[in-house]
Amino acid sequence: MSDIADYWQNFIDGAFVDGGAGRLAVLEPATGAHLANQAIADKADVDRAVAAAQRLSSSGAWSGLRPVERGRIVRKMGEYILERIDDIAPILTREAGKPLWEARLEIEGAARYFEYYGNQAETMEGRSIPLGDGYFDFTVHEPFGVSAQIIPWNYPMEMTARSVSAALAVGCACVVKTPELDPLTNRFFADAALACGLPAGALNLICGFGKDAGAALAAHPDVDQIVFTGSVPTGVSIATAAAQNVVPCVLELGGKSAAIVHDDADLDAFLSDVRWGIYFNAGQVCSAMSRVIVQEKVHDKLVDGIVAVAEALRVDDGLALPEFGANMGAMISEAQCARAAGMVSDAEREGAQVAAGGRRLNRPGYFLEPTVLTDVSPDMMVAQNEVFGPVLSVLSFSDDDEAVRIANGTTYGLVAGVYSSQLDRAMRASKKLRAGQVFVNEWYAGGVETPFGGFGKSGYGREKGREALLNYVQTKNVAIKVG
Ligand code: ADP
Repeated sequence: MSDIADYWQNFIDGAFVDGGAGRLAVLEPATGAHLANQAIADKADVDRAVAAAQRLSSSGAWSGLRPVERGRIVRKMGEYILERIDDIAPILTREAGKPLWEARLEIEGAARYFEYYGNQAETMEGRSIPLGDGYFDFTVHEPFGVSAQIIPWNYPMEMTARSVSAALAVGCACVVKTPELDPLTNRFFADAALACGLPAGALNLICGFGKDAGAALAAHPDVDQIVFTGSVPTGVSIATAAAQNVVPCVLELGGKSAAIVHDDADLDAFLSDVRWGIYFNAGQVCSAMSRVIVQEKVHDKLVDGIVAVAEALRVDDGLALPEFGANMGAMISEAQCARAAGMVSDAEREGAQVAAGGRRLNRPGYFLEPTVLTDVSPDMMVAQNEVFGPVLSVLSFSDDDEAVRIANGTTYGLVAGVYSSQLDRAMRASKKLRAGQVFVNEWYAGGVETPFGGFGKSGYGREKGREALLNYVQTKNVAIKVG
């Protein structure tokens, strides 16, 4: 279609620029067809972007502003994005494959981060520490300086917004490596920066291949802090690069998150959570509900309900799905779709039953049916490894301790859920679950305001909430000897 610009540039030091590594074809997941070309950064582009961020950072032109002024600009950037939601959403749908209504939710979510962190720019106060007679002591939170942010493709706008808004609010300058599968809509953050008065160099957006531009950015000696969301192996590479430069990083690396459903739970309410938990964004969500661990007495009844939820979903081109409802879009790429379908076949070979879905759609594009696997045992590959697709594994338990043991029995620990009408039972589980976030009786309960991050191989550090602001500052203590 011709309504999308054919060529999209990178954004360095307040200007749109070509990429030293040429151009990359962005494909439309719903059809597999060519959508647009994106400039691809090379190492020299990364150097230029980091230099611009560092220049701005050391000039004090951003970090030295009165926080309320920074906060206003950050908030305005969110408003700018929201005002253009009708223009942005179809592009996000076309590059990422998600239904139009999901694209709109993502843009609203991105704008919300700018609102939330913009509002908090002036709340980063230090403290005064009593040291007895003869001293006066206080702490200040100083921005780290250059924040490097490597963004995944599942929520390209929301993930960029999450780290950029918090980093900018406290006075950092950002270099963002956008995802090569769906980099286009990140461009609107550059437009927002220009329109809202962000100084040049405070936000640089470069697309490039992970192993080239991404690795160069993570290893750059002038980067002061790194934020990464993506796979475990890439997270390990980034943490290794960060360690070489002795800079901190935040890693958000996915999960194999489980919902424990007790026999006293409200099963109807839970089924509505299944729709969101595993089929939202075609299951390409780090905190997806990829396992259900159900009390054996209600297993069969619950499976019938889950299968009905999966089978009711219409799977289609995201542009044909403008309204919230029982529908799901394409997966992001041929590779991701084939991998997820392959994991379903492997699970069948290991003894799992495909109770719903399991096949790719017989049409162009990267569509996998909403899938439910039953007879899954905790040691199967599909119960241990992230599918990152619309594939739900159902396991069963007999007593509460066993449920928690199964839930905790993977190397991950991002989120977990407990469904029960007995609060004490849910609270006991929430204490024992090894996860950064526990949902009781509602998957995804919480929001921008609540800290999010992993235990175990799901990573470390926290995004969202006030905790995330601390990623971008370091504490300086000033102790004064008074005469
Ligand atoms: P996926 O395999 O699902 O694409 P990745 O973790 O590989 O997940 O990718 C997430 C982000 O990390 C993308 O922006 C990608 O370009 C980037 N990336 C991939 N490999 C590296 C690397 N070695 N160093 C830095 N960034 C990388």
